[in-house]
Amino acid sequence: MRIKNWDVFAFITGYHLLLIALLPWVASMLTWGAALWLLVTFIIGGISITAGYHRLYSHKAYSAHPIYEWGVLLGSTLAFQWSALTWSHDHRIHHNHVDTDKDPYSIKKGFWYAHVFWLFDYQREFQPKLVADLLKNPRVVFQDKYYLPLAILVNLAIFGIGCLFMHPLASLYFGVILRIAAIHHCTWFINSLAHTIGSKTYARELSAVDNALLAFVTFGEGYHNYHHAFAADYRNGVRWYHFDPTKWLIWTASKVGGTRSLKSIHTIKVQKALVQKDKRLLLDHLKHEADEMATELKVRLEELATRFEETSLALMAKAREFKEASKERRKVLRREMRRLREEVRRHWNEWVELTHMAAKQYHLAH
Ligand SMILES: [Zn+2]
Ligand SMILES: [Zn+2]
Repeated sequence: MRIKNWDVFAFITGYHLLLIALLPWVASMLTWGAALWLLVTFIIGGISITAGYHRLYSHKAYSAHPIYEWGVLLGSTLAFQWSALTWSHDHRIHHNHVDTDKDPYSIKKGFWYAHVFWLFDYQREFQPKLVADLLKNPRVVFQDKYYLPLAILVNLAIFGIGCLFMHPLASLYFGVILRIAAIHHCTWFINSLAHTIGSKTYARELSAVDNALLAFVTFGEGYHNYHHAFAADYRNGVRWYHFDPTKWLIWTASKVGGTRSLKSIHTIKVQKALVQKDKRLLLDHLKHEADEMATELKVRLEELATRFEETSLALMAKAREFKEASKERRKVLRREMRRLREEVRRHWNEWVELTHMAAKQYHLAH
Protein backbone atom coordinates (compact mmCIF):
# COMPACT_ATOMS: atom_id res chain seq x y z
CA MET A 1 0.00 0.00 0.00
CA ARG A 2 1.27 3.47 -0.91
CA ILE A 3 0.03 6.44 1.06
CA LYS A 4 -1.80 8.79 -1.28
CA ASN A 5 -4.13 10.65 1.10
CA TRP A 6 -1.54 12.41 3.27
CA ASP A 7 -4.14 14.67 4.92
CA VAL A 8 -6.14 11.68 6.19
CA PHE A 9 -2.94 9.90 7.21
CA ALA A 10 -1.71 12.95 9.15
CA PHE A 11 -5.07 13.40 10.89
CA ILE A 12 -5.42 9.79 11.99
CA THR A 13 -1.83 9.13 13.05
CA GLY A 14 -1.67 12.65 14.55
CA TYR A 15 -4.56 12.17 16.96
CA HIS A 16 -3.37 8.67 17.92
CA LEU A 17 0.05 10.08 18.84
CA LEU A 18 -1.60 12.92 20.74
CA LEU A 19 -3.67 10.42 22.71
CA ILE A 20 -0.50 8.69 23.87
CA ALA A 21 1.54 11.88 24.43
CA LEU A 22 -1.12 13.55 26.60
CA LEU A 23 -1.77 10.48 28.73
CA PRO A 24 0.56 11.43 31.67
CA TRP A 25 -1.26 14.77 32.06
CA VAL A 26 -4.83 13.62 31.67
CA ALA A 27 -4.71 10.30 33.53
CA SER A 28 -5.55 12.02 36.84
CA MET A 29 -8.32 14.08 35.19
CA LEU A 30 -10.60 11.14 34.42
CA THR A 31 -13.58 12.01 36.61
CA TRP A 32 -17.08 10.49 36.47
CA GLY A 33 -18.18 13.62 34.64
CA ALA A 34 -15.46 13.20 32.00
CA ALA A 35 -16.29 9.50 31.52
CA LEU A 36 -19.98 10.31 31.14
CA TRP A 37 -19.24 13.08 28.64
CA LEU A 38 -17.11 10.66 26.62
CA LEU A 39 -19.92 8.10 26.67
CA VAL A 40 -22.69 10.57 25.73
CA THR A 41 -20.76 12.05 22.79
CA PHE A 42 -19.70 8.54 21.70
CA ILE A 43 -23.35 7.45 21.62
CA ILE A 44 -24.60 10.55 19.75
CA GLY A 45 -21.83 10.36 17.14
CA GLY A 46 -21.92 6.58 16.79
CA ILE A 47 -25.66 6.09 16.50
CA SER A 48 -25.96 9.01 14.05
CA ILE A 49 -23.65 7.02 11.78
CA THR A 50 -25.44 3.69 12.15
CA ALA A 51 -29.04 4.98 12.08
CA GLY A 52 -28.37 7.90 9.72
CA TYR A 53 -25.43 7.36 7.39
CA HIS A 54 -25.86 3.61 7.24
CA ARG A 55 -29.47 2.48 7.49
CA LEU A 56 -31.25 5.69 6.37
CA TYR A 57 -28.99 7.14 3.66
CA SER A 58 -26.93 4.20 2.37
CA HIS A 59 -29.71 1.61 2.38
CA LYS A 60 -32.97 3.59 2.45
CA ALA A 61 -34.30 1.11 5.02
CA TYR A 62 -36.79 3.75 6.25
CA SER A 63 -37.77 7.38 5.74
CA ALA A 64 -37.33 10.17 8.25
CA HIS A 65 -38.74 13.56 9.24
CA PRO A 66 -36.44 16.52 8.34
CA ILE A 67 -35.88 17.25 12.06
CA TYR A 68 -34.69 13.67 12.60
CA GLU A 69 -32.45 14.03 9.53
CA TRP A 70 -30.89 17.22 10.89
CA GLY A 71 -30.29 15.39 14.16
CA VAL A 72 -28.29 12.63 12.50
CA LEU A 73 -26.59 14.96 9.99
CA LEU A 74 -25.24 17.16 12.79
CA GLY A 75 -24.70 14.34 15.30
CA SER A 76 -22.59 12.42 12.79
CA THR A 77 -20.11 15.28 12.52
CA LEU A 78 -18.89 14.07 15.94
CA ALA A 79 -17.63 10.95 14.18
CA PHE A 80 -15.34 12.57 11.57
CA GLN A 81 -16.24 10.10 8.82
CA TRP A 82 -16.80 12.49 5.93
CA SER A 83 -20.23 13.61 4.75
CA ALA A 84 -23.34 11.40 4.55
CA LEU A 85 -23.16 11.64 0.76
CA THR A 86 -19.54 10.47 0.50
CA TRP A 87 -19.98 7.78 3.14
CA SER A 88 -23.10 6.34 1.48
CA HIS A 89 -21.42 6.48 -1.93
CA ASP A 90 -18.50 4.36 -0.72
CA HIS A 91 -20.73 2.07 1.29
CA ARG A 92 -22.99 1.32 -1.67
CA ILE A 93 -19.88 0.33 -3.64
CA HIS A 94 -18.88 -1.92 -0.72
CA HIS A 95 -22.23 -3.74 -0.91
CA ASN A 96 -22.31 -3.94 -4.71
CA HIS A 97 -18.76 -5.25 -5.00
CA VAL A 98 -18.06 -6.88 -1.64
CA ASP A 99 -14.96 -9.13 -1.57
CA THR A 100 -13.71 -7.90 -4.95
CA ASP A 101 -11.04 -5.38 -5.94
CA LYS A 102 -13.70 -2.72 -6.46
CA ASP A 103 -14.72 -2.90 -2.77
CA PRO A 104 -13.07 0.18 -1.16
CA TYR A 105 -12.46 -1.66 2.10
CA SER A 106 -12.13 -5.19 0.83
CA ILE A 107 -11.20 -7.74 3.49
CA LYS A 108 -9.38 -9.65 0.75
CA LYS A 109 -6.62 -7.06 1.05
CA GLY A 110 -6.11 -7.93 4.70
CA PHE A 111 -7.57 -7.20 8.12
CA TRP A 112 -5.72 -3.91 8.71
CA TYR A 113 -6.34 -2.70 5.18
CA ALA A 114 -10.11 -3.16 5.67
CA HIS A 115 -9.86 -1.62 9.15
CA VAL A 116 -8.00 1.62 8.42
CA PHE A 117 -5.27 1.48 5.76
CA TRP A 118 -7.78 1.78 2.92
CA LEU A 119 -8.36 5.36 4.03
CA PHE A 120 -4.76 6.22 3.20
CA ASP A 121 -4.73 5.06 -0.43
CA TYR A 122 -8.36 5.09 -1.58
CA GLN A 123 -8.89 7.25 -4.67
CA ARG A 124 -12.60 7.91 -4.90
CA GLU A 125 -14.06 8.11 -8.39
CA PHE A 126 -17.31 9.80 -7.52
CA GLN A 127 -20.29 8.35 -9.41
CA PRO A 128 -23.26 10.74 -9.07
CA LYS A 129 -25.61 8.07 -10.47
CA LEU A 130 -24.93 5.84 -7.50
CA VAL A 131 -26.30 8.43 -5.08
CA ALA A 132 -28.82 10.17 -7.35
CA ASP A 133 -31.50 9.90 -4.64
CA LEU A 134 -29.28 11.58 -2.04
CA LEU A 135 -28.30 14.38 -4.42
CA LYS A 136 -32.00 15.31 -4.47
CA ASN A 137 -32.07 15.66 -0.68
CA PRO A 138 -31.23 19.32 0.16
CA ARG A 139 -30.22 18.47 3.75
CA VAL A 140 -27.70 15.85 2.63
CA VAL A 141 -26.32 18.21 -0.04
CA PHE A 142 -25.98 21.02 2.52
CA GLN A 143 -24.15 18.79 5.00
CA ASP A 144 -21.82 17.64 2.22
CA LYS A 145 -21.06 21.17 1.06
CA TYR A 146 -20.34 22.55 4.53
CA TYR A 147 -19.07 19.38 6.15
CA LEU A 148 -15.78 20.70 7.52
CA PRO A 149 -17.09 23.98 9.04
CA LEU A 150 -20.03 22.06 10.52
CA ALA A 151 -17.75 19.40 12.01
CA ILE A 152 -15.45 22.05 13.50
CA LEU A 153 -18.36 24.04 14.94
CA VAL A 154 -20.11 21.04 16.50
CA ASN A 155 -16.87 19.73 18.00
CA LEU A 156 -15.96 23.17 19.33
CA ALA A 157 -19.37 23.34 20.98
CA ILE A 158 -18.82 19.91 22.58
CA PHE A 159 -15.39 21.07 23.79
CA GLY A 160 -16.90 24.29 25.18
CA ILE A 161 -19.70 22.49 27.04
CA GLY A 162 -17.12 20.07 28.49
CA CYS A 163 -15.06 23.01 29.80
CA LEU A 164 -18.01 24.02 31.98
CA PHE A 165 -17.53 21.00 34.24
CA MET A 166 -13.94 19.85 33.70
CA HIS A 167 -10.43 21.10 32.97
CA PRO A 168 -10.09 22.29 29.31
CA LEU A 169 -7.42 19.65 28.65
CA ALA A 170 -9.72 16.91 29.95
CA SER A 171 -12.56 18.26 27.81
CA LEU A 172 -10.31 18.17 24.74
CA TYR A 173 -8.98 14.71 25.54
CA PHE A 174 -12.09 12.80 26.67
CA GLY A 175 -14.84 14.79 24.97
CA VAL A 176 -13.13 15.20 21.60
CA ILE A 177 -9.97 13.23 20.74
CA LEU A 178 -10.63 9.97 22.59
CA ARG A 179 -14.27 10.03 21.48
CA ILE A 180 -13.26 10.45 17.80
CA ALA A 181 -10.82 7.54 18.18
CA ALA A 182 -13.43 5.33 19.86
CA ILE A 183 -16.07 5.95 17.18
CA HIS A 184 -13.51 5.49 14.40
CA HIS A 185 -12.31 2.12 15.64
CA CYS A 186 -15.82 0.85 16.34
CA THR A 187 -16.99 1.77 12.83
CA TRP A 188 -13.81 0.34 11.31
CA PHE A 189 -14.38 -2.95 13.16
CA ILE A 190 -17.45 -3.47 10.96
CA ASN A 191 -15.22 -3.53 7.92
CA SER A 192 -12.48 -5.61 9.54
CA LEU A 193 -13.78 -7.84 12.38
CA ALA A 194 -17.33 -8.19 11.04
CA HIS A 195 -15.79 -9.57 7.86
CA THR A 196 -13.50 -11.97 9.78
CA ILE A 197 -14.66 -13.51 13.09
CA GLY A 198 -18.23 -14.76 13.49
CA SER A 199 -20.89 -16.98 11.98
CA LYS A 200 -22.47 -17.07 8.54
CA THR A 201 -26.11 -18.00 8.53
CA TYR A 202 -27.64 -15.90 5.80
CA ALA A 203 -25.00 -15.45 3.10
CA ARG A 204 -22.36 -18.14 3.29
CA GLU A 205 -20.75 -17.03 0.06
CA LEU A 206 -19.72 -13.65 1.52
CA SER A 207 -16.98 -12.72 3.99
CA ALA A 208 -19.45 -10.82 6.21
CA VAL A 209 -20.17 -12.49 9.56
CA ASP A 210 -22.57 -12.14 12.49
CA ASN A 211 -20.71 -11.25 15.67
CA ALA A 212 -22.89 -10.58 18.72
CA LEU A 213 -20.01 -9.21 20.79
CA LEU A 214 -19.24 -6.61 18.18
CA ALA A 215 -22.88 -5.52 18.20
CA PHE A 216 -22.31 -4.17 21.73
CA VAL A 217 -19.84 -1.52 20.64
CA THR A 218 -21.39 -0.77 17.25
CA PHE A 219 -25.01 -0.11 18.22
CA GLY A 220 -26.17 -3.39 16.73
CA GLU A 221 -24.16 -3.48 13.53
CA GLY A 222 -22.32 -6.67 14.47
CA TYR A 223 -24.98 -8.77 12.73
CA HIS A 224 -23.24 -8.10 9.47
CA ASN A 225 -23.91 -11.37 7.66
CA TYR A 226 -27.66 -10.81 7.93
CA HIS A 227 -27.13 -7.21 6.90
CA HIS A 228 -25.25 -8.13 3.72
CA ALA A 229 -27.93 -10.70 2.86
CA PHE A 230 -30.89 -8.37 3.55
CA ALA A 231 -29.51 -4.83 3.44
CA ALA A 232 -32.93 -3.23 2.93
CA ASP A 233 -34.06 -4.33 6.42
CA TYR A 234 -33.96 -1.52 8.99
CA ARG A 235 -32.83 -4.10 11.55
CA ASN A 236 -29.44 -5.79 11.67
CA GLY A 237 -30.18 -7.94 14.70
CA VAL A 238 -33.49 -9.55 13.78
CA ARG A 239 -34.23 -11.56 16.91
CA TRP A 240 -35.85 -9.80 19.88
CA TYR A 241 -32.83 -10.64 22.07
CA HIS A 242 -30.29 -9.28 19.58
CA PHE A 243 -28.61 -6.14 20.91
CA ASP A 244 -29.47 -3.59 18.23
CA PRO A 245 -30.00 -0.09 19.75
CA THR A 246 -30.07 1.41 16.25
CA LYS A 247 -33.15 -0.67 15.45
CA TRP A 248 -34.74 0.35 18.78
CA LEU A 249 -34.07 4.03 18.08
CA ILE A 250 -35.59 3.86 14.58
CA TRP A 251 -38.61 1.93 15.88
CA THR A 252 -39.16 4.29 18.83
CA ALA A 253 -38.82 7.34 16.56
CA SER A 254 -41.50 5.85 14.28
CA LYS A 255 -43.96 6.00 17.20
CA VAL A 256 -43.56 9.77 17.50
CA GLY A 257 -43.42 10.63 13.79
CA GLY A 258 -39.63 10.90 13.52
CA THR A 259 -39.35 7.97 11.13
CA ARG A 260 -41.74 6.06 8.88
CA SER A 261 -41.95 3.27 6.24
CA LEU A 262 -39.66 0.94 8.20
CA LYS A 263 -38.68 -1.96 5.93
CA SER A 264 -38.32 -5.40 7.46
CA ILE A 265 -38.14 -8.80 5.86
CA HIS A 266 -40.53 -11.44 7.24
CA THR A 267 -38.76 -14.35 8.98
CA ILE A 268 -40.34 -16.98 6.75
CA LYS A 269 -39.35 -15.01 3.65
CA VAL A 270 -35.78 -14.83 4.99
CA GLN A 271 -35.77 -18.56 5.60
CA LYS A 272 -37.30 -19.33 2.20
CA ALA A 273 -34.61 -17.29 0.47
CA LEU A 274 -31.95 -19.03 2.52
CA VAL A 275 -33.19 -22.51 1.72
CA GLN A 276 -33.13 -21.72 -1.99
CA LYS A 277 -29.69 -20.18 -1.81
CA ASP A 278 -28.17 -22.90 0.38
CA LYS A 279 -29.61 -25.60 -1.82
CA ARG A 280 -28.14 -24.06 -4.96
CA LEU A 281 -24.76 -23.58 -3.30
CA LEU A 282 -24.57 -27.09 -1.88
CA LEU A 283 -25.83 -28.89 -4.97
CA ASP A 284 -23.38 -26.96 -7.07
CA HIS A 285 -20.57 -27.96 -4.75
CA LEU A 286 -21.67 -31.58 -4.67
CA LYS A 287 -22.13 -32.01 -8.39
CA HIS A 288 -18.76 -33.72 -8.85
CA GLU A 289 -19.05 -35.87 -5.72
CA ALA A 290 -20.25 -39.33 -6.63
CA ASP A 291 -19.90 -41.29 -3.38
CA GLU A 292 -22.90 -42.83 -1.70
CA MET A 293 -23.10 -40.22 1.00
CA ALA A 294 -23.14 -37.34 -1.47
CA THR A 295 -25.87 -39.00 -3.52
CA GLU A 296 -28.01 -39.50 -0.44
CA LEU A 297 -27.32 -35.95 0.68
CA LYS A 298 -28.44 -34.53 -2.66
CA VAL A 299 -31.74 -36.41 -2.41
CA ARG A 300 -32.31 -35.23 1.17
CA LEU A 301 -31.51 -31.62 0.27
CA GLU A 302 -34.02 -31.66 -2.57
CA GLU A 303 -36.65 -33.35 -0.42
CA LEU A 304 -36.30 -31.09 2.57
CA ALA A 305 -36.17 -27.94 0.46
CA THR A 306 -39.39 -28.95 -1.31
CA ARG A 307 -41.09 -29.74 1.99
CA PHE A 308 -40.04 -26.40 3.45
CA GLU A 309 -41.20 -24.55 0.36
CA GLU A 310 -44.60 -26.29 0.36
CA THR A 311 -45.30 -25.79 4.06
CA SER A 312 -44.24 -22.16 4.07
CA LEU A 313 -46.36 -21.45 0.98
CA ALA A 314 -49.33 -23.15 2.64
CA LEU A 315 -48.80 -21.05 5.77
CA MET A 316 -48.64 -17.82 3.77
CA ALA A 317 -51.82 -18.78 1.89
CA LYS A 318 -53.63 -19.42 5.18
CA ALA A 319 -52.41 -16.07 6.52
CA ARG A 320 -53.86 -14.34 3.45
CA GLU A 321 -57.15 -16.21 3.85
CA PHE A 322 -57.24 -15.24 7.55
CA LYS A 323 -57.42 -11.55 6.70
CA GLU A 324 -60.69 -12.00 4.76
CA ALA A 325 -62.23 -14.80 6.86
CA SER A 326 -65.32 -14.73 9.07
CA LYS A 327 -65.07 -15.07 12.85
CA GLU A 328 -66.00 -18.77 12.80
CA ARG A 329 -63.58 -19.58 9.98
CA ARG A 330 -60.79 -17.68 11.77
CA LYS A 331 -60.98 -20.10 14.70
CA VAL A 332 -60.28 -23.04 12.38
CA LEU A 333 -57.63 -21.13 10.47
CA ARG A 334 -55.84 -20.16 13.66
CA ARG A 335 -55.48 -23.83 14.60
CA GLU A 336 -54.25 -24.76 11.14
CA MET A 337 -51.77 -21.91 11.09
CA ARG A 338 -50.37 -22.95 14.45
CA ARG A 339 -49.81 -26.47 13.14
CA LEU A 340 -48.21 -25.19 9.92
CA ARG A 341 -45.99 -22.78 11.83
CA GLU A 342 -44.70 -25.66 13.95
CA GLU A 343 -44.09 -27.71 10.84
CA VAL A 344 -42.18 -24.86 9.17
CA ARG A 345 -40.07 -24.48 12.31
CA ARG A 346 -39.33 -28.22 12.37
CA HIS A 347 -38.34 -28.27 8.70
CA TRP A 348 -36.19 -25.20 9.20
CA ASN A 349 -34.32 -26.77 12.13
CA GLU A 350 -33.78 -29.95 10.10
CA TRP A 351 -32.54 -27.84 7.21
CA VAL A 352 -30.04 -25.95 9.38
CA GLU A 353 -28.76 -29.20 10.85
CA LEU A 354 -28.41 -30.87 7.45
CA THR A 355 -26.68 -27.96 5.75
CA HIS A 356 -24.27 -27.47 8.67
CA MET A 357 -23.38 -31.14 8.53
CA ALA A 358 -22.95 -31.01 4.74
CA ALA A 359 -20.83 -27.85 4.91
CA LYS A 360 -18.56 -29.46 7.51
CA GLN A 361 -18.31 -32.75 5.66
CA TYR A 362 -17.42 -31.16 2.32
CA HIS A 363 -15.32 -28.26 3.69
CA LEU A 364 -17.58 -25.50 2.50
CA ALA A 365 -17.09 -21.97 3.72
CA HIS A 366 -19.07 -21.97 6.94
ZN1 LIG B 1 -24.49 -1.70 4.79
ZN1 LIG C 1 -19.63 -5.18 5.03
